[in-house]
Amino acid sequence: MAEQWLLPEIDLAACTRCGQCVAQCPTQAVEMQAVGPVIVRPAECTYCTVCEGICPVGAIACAFEIAWDEGGV
Ligand code: SF4
Ligand code: SF4
Repeated sequence: MAEQWLLPEIDLAACTRCGQCVAQCPTQAVEMQAVGPVIVRPAECTYCTVCEGICPVGAIACAFEIAWDEGGV
């Protein structure tokens, strides 16, 4: 079975190449390349949503978040 990761989506059309997401990613999962920021190490991405929060133009979307309900079902 192929490994799968939940990854942030980066809208390269909206991205201004400011580099904030690359600078702030705690695991260096995202790297600036010629096309723009690319998640080059998907296994390192913890889906922390830091990049989504830091992007000044809203070009990064972490579409799903896991909510833990302490109360149980
Ligand atoms: S969600 Fe977190 S770990 Fe993943 S690329 Fe963004 S800042 Fe890095
Ligand atoms: S923070 Fe946003 S605008 Fe800046 S490089 Fe990353 S995706 Fe592009």
